[in-house]
Amino acid sequence: MSKIDKRYFLFGAQITTPFIAIWALLYYGFSVWLLASLVVFFLMRCVGSVITYHRVLGHRTHIMHPVVEAICTAFGFFGSLSSPIEFCASHTNHHKFVDTEKDPHPVKYLGWKVMFPIFWNESGPDGGDIRTVVRLRRNKIAYFFHRYHWMLLPLPLLLLLISVKVFMFFYLIPLALTLWSLSLSTLNHDKNGPKDMGTLYGILTAGEHKHVWHHTNPYDTSGEGWLDTVASLIAKRNTK
Ligand SMILES: [Zn+2]
Repeated sequence: MSKIDKRYFLFGAQITTPFIAIWALLYYGFSVWLLASLVVFFLMRCVGSVITYHRVLGHRTHIMHPVVEAICTAFGFFGSLSSPIEFCASHTNHHKFVDTEKDPHPVKYLGWKVMFPIFWNESGPDGGDIRTVVRLRRNKIAYFFHRYHWMLLPLPLLLLLISVKVFMFFYLIPLALTLWSLSLSTLNHDKNGPKDMGTLYGILTAGEHKHVWHHTNPYDTSGEGWLDTVASLIAKRNTK
């Protein structure tokens, strides 16, 4: 599959999943099942994407036990619908070329469009920093999810064998939340660079609110408030 396919695929998922999620909520009603959706959202977005993809695989802030890493990478994968290698390679370029035209998602140049990967610059979802690609291709877990991206993505559909309701509340609704949380997390920059965001933004993006600290200290989460606590509960701080 070419890179353009993945960008359009992500865009399609971003646009369609909220409508399906709203239909499910109206059809099945707002009930205690929503708690399951919020738990899965936390696992896919905070644990999978913010901590595992971004901090552990991307910035090597922590080291995970291989079993924990495999589970957490899976959360990141099924929540972002993206290869961990492509995610991190693109993100490395965000740090390297931050707020320039080479930044994959510069708010300064793209405005609100940064929320949609189809508008990202060349080093977007399938491009990125080659050293990061080489490093993560040596990581068997990350490479597995990269190599079998398209084969693995439909696996959550197996939940339909249990029931449509289970599929909706345990996957589709949390997926819609995760994809839009990811979109929202591109907005913690303005024309002056990275900026710190408030508590609500921190909750909605599952921990991407201390962005000035993050850009100043990308290899250290100790200044990132509650995110550092959660990360340190599931992984060991990398002191190398
Ligand atoms: Zn980063």
